[in-house]
Amino acid sequence: MKEFAYRRATEVRDALTLVAAGDGARYLGGGTNLVDLMKTGVEAPARLVDVRFLPLDGVREAADGGLVIGATTTNSDAAAHPEVRRRYPALSEAILAGASGQLRNMATVGGNLLQRTRCGYFADPSQACNKRVPGSGCAAIAGEHHNHAVLGWSRHCAATHASDMAVAMAAFDAVVHYETLDGPGELPLAEFYPPVGDTPDRETALPPGALITAIALPGSAVSPRSRYRKVRERASYAFATVSIAADLDVRTGSARIALGGVASRPWRARRAEAVLREGPLTADRFRAAADAELSAAEPLPGNGYKVTLARNLIVAVLTELADRAPA
Ligand SMILES: Cc1cc2nc3c(=O)[nH]c(=O)nc-3n(C[C@H](O)[C@H](O)[C@H](O)COP(=O)(O)OP(=O)(O)OC[C@H]3O[C@@H](n4cnc5c(N)ncnc54)[C@H](O)[C@@H]3O)c2cc1C
Repeated sequence: MKEFAYRRATEVRDALTLVAAGDGARYLGGGTNLVDLMKTGVEAPARLVDVRFLPLDGVREAADGGLVIGATTTNSDAAAHPEVRRRYPALSEAILAGASGQLRNMATVGGNLLQRTRCGYFADPSQACNKRVPGSGCAAIAGEHHNHAVLGWSRHCAATHASDMAVAMAAFDAVVHYETLDGPGELPLAEFYPPVGDTPDRETALPPGALITAIALPGSAVSPRSRYRKVRERASYAFATVSIAADLDVRTGSARIALGGVASRPWRARRAEAVLREGPLTADRFRAAADAELSAAEPLPGNGYKVTLARNLIVAVLTELADRAPA
């Protein structure tokens, strides 16, 4: 592991200045992803700026009736917050479906959004990976890719996004707030992760050196009966093979659906949402919604099973949400 300096920031401006000073400086949240990658040589920052002592912790009410989750709030605290559980149950379920209790106690919501892919070729510096070394190629496409993307990937990269939490945030139209030395900014989650295209190394639309300060959940969530469901290769402590966050208003057919494990970013299922709005919400309509979304899928030779899995998961979760709705 390359030697690095450690600095603890207690003011946002100090953190920004320390990272802007260069030397490949990086923010450190819980370190549960970044430090792992430093140990294997995938990441090699010269300086870590610890953000956990900044005043960015906690969940508060927003003026629009939504919630604002501070960037250094731990995953455990965000998932356990009574208002997160009451108003955005899929978000709480998504966070609790990730990692382990110990990891969630360390990990921050800001760090969770920026965790890197779990593609084995990305994690191995001896392999070709355009995300790690632009222009080096993508070993996954002709290699082991059973857990890679089926939607929105490019010939430059077929890695999936790893975060469960971000899938629920995408369904709820969350907005990421950040600070830079030039002032604050915000990015809707739909714009936060750009399409992979020919720049898989560009994973977010954040300006260089930006510090995530909070994530806002709009007050307009469709209903308090949202659901996150995750299919994985083990019952716990495993990343998503395919996952879904869904919120359905059975009176109007209005839905918000996002998929995980299928693309380089949380995949907002807008085609499925459009079919549901045409109503009525029958079993056939749920199947038509799933088919519409998956019609865009382009599986690799070894991961076509994910298309079937995603289709079944969409139908199962919509059926469950419809069944649970009050008569
Ligand atoms: C064994 C294991 C199993 C896991 N299983 C799952 C799983 O099933 N599902 C899942 O979703 N996740 C899983 N994870 C990943 C885990 O959720 C992430 O490691 C964690 O959320 C990252 O948060 P952190 O605060 O530790 O980030 P860090 O590791 O500290 O940082 C991650 C990145 O975010 C940047 N960063 C941190 N905070 C900020 C900020 N405020 N502003 C700007 N940049 C920032 C860092 O510079 C770094 O680039 C697993 C991890 C492990 C080790």
